[in-house]
Order: sequence, then C-alpha cells, then structure tokens
Amino acid sequence: QPFEDFSLSTDITRALKGLGYSEATNVQSAVIPAALQKKDIVVKSQTGSGKTAAFGIPIAELVDWDENKPQALVLTPTRELAAQVKEDITNIGRFKRIKAAAVYGKQPFARQKLELKQKTHVVVGTPGRVLDHIEKETLPIEKVEYLVIDEADEMFNMGFIDQVSAIIEKLPTKRVTMLFSATLPEDVAALSEKYMNNPEYLEM
Ligand code: AMP
Repeated sequence: QPFEDFSLSTDITRALKGLGYSEATNVQSAVIPAALQKKDIVVKSQTGSGKTAAFGIPIAELVDWDENKPQALVLTPTRELAAQVKEDITNIGRFKRIKAAAVYGKQPFARQKLELKQKTHVVVGTPGRVLDHIEKETLPIEKVEYLVIDEADEMFNMGFIDQVSAIIEKLPTKRVTMLFSATLPEDVAALSEKYMNNPEYLEM
C-alpha cells in the first residue's frame, strides 16, 4: 500500500522516499491509520516486519514540533534496539527536524541528563535507565502523549516488567499506548489489559 494513502505531511513522505520506502509493509498498513486516530493497539509482529517505522511514522507525524518537552516515550528491552529506534525515528522525522534521544544503561547519566535538557520530541530507552531519569526528574514526562512498549515479551523475559509498570504508572493517563510483541503470553496480555484503553488487537 502506498504511503500516500495515509495523508501524511510532505515532510514525512519525503523522508520515507529518501529512505527507499515506497510501499507500507503489512504491519505499517494496519498500525499507521489506527495510530493516527489515536487508538490504543496491541500488535503481534516479528522483527523485520517494519514495526519500528509502523510506530515511528505516526509518532513523527503527530508530535508538535514547537513543544520542547518529550511527547513520545518508546521502551525497548535492549540498548542496541533503543539506539536503532532513535536512529530510525530521526531519519523518518528528518525534514520535520524531529529530535529523538536515546537513554540506556552503561552510558554516562550526566550526558543523557544534558541531552534531555535540549528540545526532545521522542525519548527511546531501556526501562531501568528511563525510570532512573524520571525519578531524578531529568526526564520530564508531563507532556508524554504517546507510549510505545516495544518487544514486550522480551521485556518480560529480561525481568523488566516491574520497571515498565512503574514507568507507566507515572505517565499522564491521557495518552495513546502501542504495544508490540512477537508473542502474546498471558503476562503481556495482562499488562495491556491493565494499562491500555480498550486496545485493538492486530495480528500480522
Ligand atoms: P524492523 O522490523 O522495524 O526492524 O524493520 C526491518 C527493516 O525494514 C529495516 O531495515 C527497515 O529500514 C526496513 N523497512 C521498514 N519499513 C520499510 C518499507 N516500508 N519499505 C522498505 N523497507 C522498510
């Protein structure tokens, strides 16, 4: 399906062309319209399906450039994935000048703190470090409207679920939540039921 179908702004479609994305993948065709309508969604999909752009495109489209505080928070199970998602969102938001920051462990806290003082539209990070920044008030969350829980099953496998829950409980309740997972075990389903608002289930 061509990206023109989603009535995205030209800043975003130009960036997608530059990345060589001509057609939306299946997961993107399902997720982009739902996210643009600000629906909560649970998406069962594998890595390699284009899931990063599936949430990255609507987030880049929806964030208000003029707001200096983070409007979107993406939680990932690993540092590598956090860095990759930051890179992908930066590329998708290139012409809108979207600023994404990645925060994860084993990296100096102070440098991340300085980075978070700059204008930041999207924060991507691993749960422990994100929670640390929220608790130390170096990551303002009052403007967060979009939450992505990426690779939720991995987050459980790695024992991050208490931290993920603690983060969610601090976020504004008026928000859009998107959860992505390769598998949907009971604990992931329970998390979505507890913290999401009548989510639509999309299976790719
Ligand atoms: P992901 O599932 O997010 O890890 O993406 C897998 C790969 O597909 C990445 O290298 C993306 O850059 C690429 N990709 C994502 N969306 C598209 C698209 N619509 N067309 C072509 N490649 C894409």
